Amino acid sequence: MRKVRLSNSVEVPVLGLGTWYMGESRQSRATEVQALRTGLDLGMTLIDTAEMYAEGGAEEVVGEAMQGRRDAIYLVSKVYPHNASLKGTVAACDRSLKRLKTDRIDLYLLHWRGSHPLAETIEAFEGLKAAGKIGAWGVSNFDRGDMQQLARAPGGANCVSNQVLYHVDERGIEWDLLPYCQKAGIMVMAYSPLGQAAVLGDATISQIARKHGVTAAAVALAFVLRQPGVVAIPKSARDAHVTANARAADLMLDAEDLALLDAVFPAPKGPTPLAML
Ligand code: NDP
Repeated sequence: MRKVRLSNSVEVPVLGLGTWYMGESRQSRATEVQALRTGLDLGMTLIDTAEMYAEGGAEEVVGEAMQGRRDAIYLVSKVYPHNASLKGTVAACDRSLKRLKTDRIDLYLLHWRGSHPLAETIEAFEGLKAAGKIGAWGVSNFDRGDMQQLARAPGGANCVSNQVLYHVDERGIEWDLLPYCQKAGIMVMAYSPLGQAAVLGDATISQIARKHGVTAAAVALAFVLRQPGVVAIPKSARDAHVTANARAADLMLDAEDLALLDAVFPAPKGPTPLAML
């Protein structure tokens, strides 16, 4: 699978696996674990989770899916903003590691900006890095102003990724946040890259999918992945969907496809407040 190189030289696959709404119920656990393993087998070896998802339940599902194959996985998790104090970040990370049944998180993100000073969270992240509990750190739901403040904070230049909402029908980041991150070498992780399935019924997307012999989901993902330095983390708890999503890594949309999509989902014409879920 195609890879993106992070500023710390680590390479990650352009397609990973989301886990929001996993771990909510015991009955669906085996299917969720199976879907994640299918994704891993297909080369989607980045897993995105968070302490927030099912209040730790999603991390437990991920922990089970990773058994016996931890070293082949780039593991991303997130700390709640209200936990992101100097001590609270470390305690939250320790709890996540326990649920994930591993001794390190490869990339640890601040889920969104909260009231703890950025400098404090960064100090905690750097401490976790020095202790070997995390490989790198980043942020999520940060707009350009937030990124500029982060860059000025002590240690802020060590941020390797910003995870934000980005899909064909939500292109605001293309105006300034995406170019800012690309220039700074900060990987953009596109969350909800399928628009939580809302874009999949669009007639233009379906038409392009038919032309390439793929699903609408693969087209929506390929649209996001056409941008350098962008990784997408679609979530699916179904083997068939995961398999369809993996096709996006090899799908190159051509100029005609992109023109059709631009007509229905126009690029931003000016600064747009960062959308988030
Ligand atoms: P997605 O855009 O990934 O869409 C997920 C939905 O699409 C699910 O209902 C899934 O259903 C369905 N789906 C997946 N693949 C297909 C397919 N091939 N065909 C048809 N339907 C499909 O939305 P998410 O909001 O889950 O975003 C992805 C991940 O990003 C999250 O899981 C989470 O890890 C992360 N995230 C981060 C946020 C943040 O604040 N940092 C916020 C939101 C998400 P099914 O399971 O039945 O396949």
